[in-house]
Formats: sequence, structure tokens, C-alpha cells
Amino acid sequence: MQLLDHVSITVTDLARATPFYEAIMSALGVSKAYEMDDAVGFGQRNRPDDDAHTYFSLFQSSAAAPDPRRHWCFRARSTAEVRAFFDAGLRAGGVADGEPGLRPDYHRAYFAAFLKDPEGNRVEAVFHQSDQPPPAADAKQSARP
Ligand SMILES: [Zn+2]
Repeated sequence: MQLLDHVSITVTDLARATPFYEAIMSALGVSKAYEMDDAVGFGQRNRPDDDAHTYFSLFQSSAAAPDPRRHWCFRARSTAEVRAFFDAGLRAGGVADGEPGLRPDYHRAYFAAFLKDPEGNRVEAVFHQSDQPPPAADAKQSARP
């Protein structure tokens, strides 16, 4: 089940935050949905009989304040996309908050990376499938005579 239809992230300085979100969304293959003076949207809005999408808006708000316990997690389609999300975000003014890698405490294939946007909002990208051979299996085979 796809639980979320859309979400909004708020920032005090939209002009400063927008290049960061443009970069991470592009890395995840997500296009811009709209752009206004005080908001920018990414993803795809749901429509009648075409409702399997999610989008998010980035809104300028004087009340915006980061919360270290709040985050938004975007779906990636591969571990390479998770890495691309992380690298693109760092180049566009983000701060590393968790290197790309497996988080086996969540489940065996949970591959994620974490960033803070230029205002300190936490964002994550995750891929839930294994798209790489397990390194342990390769090491075992090559160690055999
Ligand atoms: Zn998360």
C-alpha cells in the first residue's frame, strides 16, 4: 500500500533550498511538477483513475523550523540512485547525515542514505531490494581450492 499521497516541506529561504531539492529529485529521476513564487513541487499528482503517484511541495514559510526527529524518505530504484541522491545533495548545499549503505537493523536489503537540506531538514533515500550479489558468497567461493 502506498500510504502517502503528498507531503509538504517548509523552509524559510526557498531560493536557497530549491537547488538542493532540484538536485536530489533529479538524481531519483523525479521531475518538477510546478513552480510558484512561494512554492515548488516535485513528482506527479494523482488524477482520476491514475492515482498511484506521490508528490511533494517545498513551501516558503516564516514559521519553518527543522526538527531532528522528523524526516522524509524518498524511494530510489537502485542502490546507485541512493548514492546519486547523496552525491547530488552534497554538491547542492546539503550536509551528510548518514552515508549510503545497508541498514540491516531495518531489514537485510534496506539500502539508504541521509542528508540535511540547507536549512537542516532531514531527508532520506531508500532502496528495498538487493541489486548486488552478496559479498560474503563471492568471498567464500574464491577462497575454495
Ligand atoms: Zn527513514
